[in-house]
Amino acid sequence: MQRHLLAINAGSSSIKFQLFRADGSGPDARLERRLVGQLDGIGSHPRLVIRDGAAAMLVDRGFATGEVASVEAAQEIVADWLSASATPLDAIGHRVVHGGADFTGPVPIDTAILARIAALTPLAPLHQPKNLAPIHSWVRRRPDLPQVASFDTAFHRSHGALADRFAIPEALYAEGVRRYGFHGLSYEFIAGRLREAAPSLASGRVIVAHLGNGCSLCALKDGRSIDSSMSFTALDGVAMGTRPGSLDPGVVLYLMREKGMDAARLERFLYHECGLKGMSGISNDLRVLEKSDDPQARLALDFFVHRIGKELGALTAVLGGLDALVFTAGIGENAADIRARIVAMSAWAGLAIDPAKNAARRMDISAPEAKARTLVLPTDEERMIARHMLAVLGG
Ligand code: AMP
Repeated sequence: MQRHLLAINAGSSSIKFQLFRADGSGPDARLERRLVGQLDGIGSHPRLVIRDGAAAMLVDRGFATGEVASVEAAQEIVADWLSASATPLDAIGHRVVHGGADFTGPVPIDTAILARIAALTPLAPLHQPKNLAPIHSWVRRRPDLPQVASFDTAFHRSHGALADRFAIPEALYAEGVRRYGFHGLSYEFIAGRLREAAPSLASGRVIVAHLGNGCSLCALKDGRSIDSSMSFTALDGVAMGTRPGSLDPGVVLYLMREKGMDAARLERFLYHECGLKGMSGISNDLRVLEKSDDPQARLALDFFVHRIGKELGALTAVLGGLDALVFTAGIGENAADIRARIVAMSAWAGLAIDPAKNAARRMDISAPEAKARTLVLPTDEERMIARHMLAVLGG
C-alpha cells in the first residue's frame, strides 16, 4: 500500500512541512521524503523554500512583510502551492504543542477532538492557535482527508508523580497546573534513533539536549521520558533564544508591582524579549553572538552554557547516573563550540569529547577515555508526525 502523508509543524514565526510517501502500513512502513519546505520569517522577512526529496530547490521566494503577516497567511500560501503543483495527499498530520493531561499519544482529528485541542489554548495561548490554524484550513480545503494530531506533551506523560508536580495546592494540579514538558516529538524521534544506532545506550540513562530556538533537556530511562526541564509552559528550564528559562516567580511579581506589567505585557516580555536576545541586547541567533566580541554577547553565551550544565546535573541526579548525552536541534547539531563547553562543564559525569570528532559532527563524538558517551543525532519532528499518522490510520 502506498500513501502520501503531509506533516505540518506550525510554530510562532514559521511553518515547516514534509511530504512522505509511505510504502506499507504500520510501524515497519518505509517513509520516503518527497518534499521538505518551510515558510519562515512570518511578520518580518517571509521566505518560502521548498525542496524535493533529493534536496533540489523547487521554490525559493521572498515576500513583503505584509504579504505574510500571520501563520494563517503562511498556511494558505503553502496549501495553495501544494494544490497548484497537484501534490498527491492521502492524510495530513499536525504538530500540536499542548495535549494537556489526557492526550497520551497521537489521535485522529474530528470535531470533538478539535474542540478539546482548542480548550487547551489557555495552557499555550501563543502556540495552540497557531497549530489550530492549519488544521482548520485543511478541514475547509480537503474535508475528505483524514487528519491526525501529534502532541508535543504526549511523550512526557510517562512522568511519575514527582516530576509532574509543582509544590502548590493539589486543587491547582487537578485543574491542570502540571509539569507537562515539551519537544516530545523530537525526544520520541531521538529515542527511536538511539534504539537503531546505539541499542545498548537506548536502554540506559540518557539525557537529550534539544537546543534550537526553544531549548529543553529530557531525561530518558529505557527510552521513556522520566523528567524534563520544560514544565507547565515552554518558558521553564534553560535559557533560550528569546525566553529566559527558569525564573524566580518573585521576578514576575516584581515586574507586575514595580513596572506595572499586565499579563499581556509579561507574556510578550517572557516569550520574546529575554534569553540570549535580552541578555546580549544583540540577537537571539547563536551564530550572531558567536561572531560578536561584545562582552554582553559573551556573557549571554556563558550563561547559556552554565544553565544547561546545571540542568544536566539535576537530571543526572534524577536518573541516578548518566550513560549518554545526546545533542540535537539547530544549536545542538551545529554549534560545536557550545557542545564542547557543555561537555567540559559536565566532565564530573564522565563525559569527554574528541575535538576532531566534534568538529566533524560525527554521530559519536566521545573521547576514548569517556565513561559516558556524547552523541549528535539530527532530529526530525515531521518524520515522527508521519510515523504517528501511520500508527493512528493503520492499514
Ligand atoms: P531550530 O529551532 O532547531 O531550527 O534551531 C534554530 C537555531 O539554531 C537558530 O536560532 C540558531 O541560533 C541555531 N543554529 C542554526 N544553525 C547554526 C550553526 N551553524 N551554528 C550555530 N547555531 C546554529
